[in-house]
Amino acid sequence: MRHVFNVWQNIEKRLWSAKGIFLLLDFDGTLTPIVKRPREAELSSEMEGILKFLAKKRGFEVAIISGRALSDLKQKIKIRNIIYVGNHGLEIERKGKNFIYPQASKSIPTMKELKKILKARLGSIKGTIVEDKRVGLAVHYRMVKNSDVPELERMVRQIFRPFMEKRKIKIGHGKKILEAKAPIMWDKGKAASMLLDSFKQEKPLSIYLGDDKTDEDAFSALDGKGITVFVGKPGKSKAKFFLRNVSEVGTFLKKLSALKLGGCKTRCTKKSPV
Ligand SMILES: [Mg+2]
Repeated sequence: MRHVFNVWQNIEKRLWSAKGIFLLLDFDGTLTPIVKRPREAELSSEMEGILKFLAKKRGFEVAIISGRALSDLKQKIKIRNIIYVGNHGLEIERKGKNFIYPQASKSIPTMKELKKILKARLGSIKGTIVEDKRVGLAVHYRMVKNSDVPELERMVRQIFRPFMEKRKIKIGHGKKILEAKAPIMWDKGKAASMLLDSFKQEKPLSIYLGDDKTDEDAFSALDGKGITVFVGKPGKSKAKFFLRNVSEVGTFLKKLSALKLGGCKTRCTKKSPV
């Protein structure tokens, strides 16, 4: 896995020769640092400024793709002219039009039932946050004492199990988060591919940035179709490139802001090797 800035010249050539750029960005851990309470995550004004600029930039389309509920995500970002993708792809809003994955809303009663059970049973473990995402449910435990984490994970899995066995949910596991998701074969990767396919005529070059396990589906789905960037310490990710942290993501997005599409006509002598 190569660091984006170490191969920047090659990446830049590839961007110059693109017809357009479709930028897909995860939110938590990619655009904002991970915080203890998810509701405290906040986009810095600098990052917001860069995103606003990119959203208006000619040849660019920007999507934010997150595990958060769509309504939550829109509260956090508030930028016009971008595509919002919530609940790992189950909810999409594009140009004021909403898409909910057809089967997803069937899960709403199950999530309500699970929420009640979780709230009643997990009350004894301090620091647990149960988040209702309407078509999903998340148990956050970043604030739970390390020594309590194994017991918490065991309890949550035990509560989830009968629902999973009846195929009412599937279980997701991310950074200090266990989730009940609608039992649908749909993920960030499938949502990203659907969006990419929706561009008529000439396909843009996709760039996907993400930091967590759920982003791996997108790294696989977009492999060979664009530039995939893992945010964090390089490890087992399927992404081809990496950036170390949110601050480097900011620098990368600034470089994109300064980019002139079509620059290859004058600047590229050979085909880009990346
Ligand atoms: Mg993330």
